[in-house]
Amino acid sequence: MSAGRPAHALAPAPDKAAPPIAEAQGVTRIFGVKPDITARVMHRVGLARPEPTVQAVNDVSLSIRRGEVVGLVGESGCGKSTLGRVVSGLLPPTRGRMMWNGRDSQALRGAERLKAKLAVQMIFQNPMASLNPRITVRDIIAEAPRLHGLIEGSVDDYVDAQMLRVGLDPAMKDRLPHEFSGGQRQRVGIARALAVGPDLLVCDEAIAALDVSIQAQVINLFVDLHEALGLTYLFISHDLGVVRHISDRVVIMYLGRVVEDAATEEIFSRANHPYTQSLLREVPVIDTERREFETIAGELPSPLAPPPGCHFHPRCPFATERCRTEVPVLKEIAPGHRSACHLNDGMGA
Ligand code: SF4
Repeated sequence: MSAGRPAHALAPAPDKAAPPIAEAQGVTRIFGVKPDITARVMHRVGLARPEPTVQAVNDVSLSIRRGEVVGLVGESGCGKSTLGRVVSGLLPPTRGRMMWNGRDSQALRGAERLKAKLAVQMIFQNPMASLNPRITVRDIIAEAPRLHGLIEGSVDDYVDAQMLRVGLDPAMKDRLPHEFSGGQRQRVGIARALAVGPDLLVCDEAIAALDVSIQAQVINLFVDLHEALGLTYLFISHDLGVVRHISDRVVIMYLGRVVEDAATEEIFSRANHPYTQSLLREVPVIDTERREFETIAGELPSPLAPPPGCHFHPRCPFATERCRTEVPVLKEIAPGHRSACHLNDGMGA
């Protein structure tokens, strides 16, 4: 195990020479916002204003190497779930490109496109909402691999193997999702994703809705699957403790932009960006080994009208006049460590 890798990392270290399995190149994703009553009235009387938009992801470049576990962290509304959907192919970028094994995913056609689509699977926060409540777990797990001709032998044997892999009793396969506990349902969601043989799992707050005791079990399942199958993860979470436990590398987002990106232990020992430093400010919990993290002073500004310059400047204790007008560039400040802060001028490349 190389220095700096988390304790779980028994799987082969990510191959730094290989092209990234997935790479966002200058990805921007913009959403239109439903006009309010005033805007609708103005439109009717011929005084239409430009449609308001939200830039949920703003010019993000990020690469994920095969076998790597990348933690994507930020407050609610920072764009991390939207970026996860772009990486998983559920949303096309508005601008920029999403590369898959070095190929533009939008340019893939036919069998290549399908292969790339199956190779990235998403695990959602609420398994109840993402599982069809009217069909049995057998059909939920078998649906996609059957459709794509991935099952060579018996469907039952295939489903049993997927269920055993995630710690579920195959005898439960004829039950409906509501007959499972929350943790079991999340395991069903993971089994469904694994059933098509993915290379990359995008886990979007995949344990956030579970009880704390169950969270640990599901994290351990993700770790075991990573080791056993050599999976790559983009692990989206607001929980820094979880991200530290599971990730090789941590990417920090703020209001649609990546503000810092480094190996996990580098982030936790030498955070550079003032936003990351605020996120990491720990609050000791008396008489327990638990560590909690402070919430950051000030509100996250509305993504409808983000502050100019550095988006973090209204909450940053080091903000200067330049920060209010000029967008800081995300640049390498040490090998493998990128940060976007004017305070770094003169550092790194
Ligand atoms: Fe703070 Fe300025 Fe750095 Fe932004 S660029 S994090 S406002 S010091």
